[in-house]
Amino acid sequence: MMHEALDPGRSLLIGGRWESADETMPVVDPWSGETLGAVACANVIHVERAVAAATRGAEAMRALSTGARARILHAAAAALEANAERFAFAITAETGKPVRTATREVARAVNTLRLSGEEATRLAGETIAFDSFPGGETRSGHYVQEPVGVIAAITPFNDPLNLVCHKLGPAFAAGNAVILKPAEQAPLVAVMLARLLLAAGLPEEALSLLTGRGSDFGDALTSHADVAMVSFTGGARVGEAICRSAGIKRLSMELGGNGPVIVMDDADIERAARASAAGAFGAAGQNCIGVQRIYVHEKIHDRFAQALVAATATLRVGDPRDAATDVGPMIGAAEAERIIAWTLEAVAGGASLLSGGERAGTLVRPTLLSNVAADARVACHEAFGPVASLFRFADLDEAIDAANRADYAIHAAIFTESLRHARHAARRLRAAGVMVNDSTDYRLDAMPFGGAGRGNMGREGVRFAARDMSQTKVICFHDA
Ligand code: NAD
Repeated sequence: MMHEALDPGRSLLIGGRWESADETMPVVDPWSGETLGAVACANVIHVERAVAAATRGAEAMRALSTGARARILHAAAAALEANAERFAFAITAETGKPVRTATREVARAVNTLRLSGEEATRLAGETIAFDSFPGGETRSGHYVQEPVGVIAAITPFNDPLNLVCHKLGPAFAAGNAVILKPAEQAPLVAVMLARLLLAAGLPEEALSLLTGRGSDFGDALTSHADVAMVSFTGGARVGEAICRSAGIKRLSMELGGNGPVIVMDDADIERAARASAAGAFGAAGQNCIGVQRIYVHEKIHDRFAQALVAATATLRVGDPRDAATDVGPMIGAAEAERIIAWTLEAVAGGASLLSGGERAGTLVRPTLLSNVAADARVACHEAFGPVASLFRFADLDEAIDAANRADYAIHAAIFTESLRHARHAARRLRAAGVMVNDSTDYRLDAMPFGGAGRGNMGREGVRFAARDMSQTKVICFHDA
């Protein structure tokens, strides 16, 4: 049975009109298994029409004053805030994210839209000192930021609202049009957001929404000659396929991580344990900056392990609609099965299971391992699930080298009371962000955010994304 409050009806938005398609796909609640609604499966013909509409939409956005762009984004932020409960309910329904975490995601998305409204009026250039080099004395001028045009925005399931806002907000602030392809598992919130943006006054052809399967129409969208930029957040495998298909165009690639945390012997053990448990198991570990590998100084390893197991045991696991729940289900049974398979494989390779290791349907108990072989999948691939592994070290540089072993990273973290250790780690850790006395799982939506290493390109965090979504134009007057 469909959930009437969530079924979106027509889910394709092209040229300001909502449409359906011949083929539809169900959206399923990962906790209850209930069908929440059905969305249209877009195809290559929809892509052609969406690109044509967005090309006109890009002209409309370009013509819009920065003040008008800001007003639309602020109006959208206010409308989202007014509807926070409805959006949080929908996030929980389609992703299984606990309602407390979903409510926080909505508050963050409001902030992301507000920051975008502010950025619209700040995205300016500078005067250039043309007279600084012989030959320029009679010249004067400046540079400005112009929109790039049509941006294809492709987003994952785990933060289905805020990650979409991180693409739409900066893109509109910079005067672009967007064709959004939300995750197939969690497209309902994106449909709700698109309706809200149009109601806030967005020019109707500035946003197209194509629901359905990336494998059906992703190539047609990303390779289209009239798409100027592809802004992708998701896994490395899909990211690589998109880069091949996109060819020579502007790309932003926000890929995965497998968050390393170092706990020094001078750290506040309780604090480090609580933060690591929350960082590893919040959103059932389906978090690109979630804690996955924890390197613990040998002098405190056993005490920390005990504290971590105890902190993990306090997490309430179960129904995501219950306000007391900390850890809900994973997005699907196959993902849950994969986490258990990786865990069993690590145990077969000599690891000890400190907690968890069980699943019921989509629900995986927070799982902690120690003595994990460095080449176990759970250690060297992104797990994107509720499993974390403890490793022992004797010397900070040894821990940093181990943390740096992955060829990609978003955040890395260190718990220590020593400024010298913190500064050393901050310098040497190969990551796009280093958190001191915090787990890897911290992000402010205004800060630069992205990845380091393999395949990562660009930065989000509204100001930085808006720059990436603009191109610089120099204007020079020759007066003589
Ligand atoms: P995914 O890579 O499977 O899918 C992401 C999106 O790509 C979806 O919308 C999907 O439909 C689409 N897609 C699939 N094939 C496509 C194709 N050929 N062309 C165009 N689009 C296509 O990711 P997921 O499972 O939804 O999300 C999990 C991944 O996202 C993890 O790896 C996680 O680390 C990453 N992630 C990264 C960040 C970040 O900011 N760096 C944030 C959240 C999630």
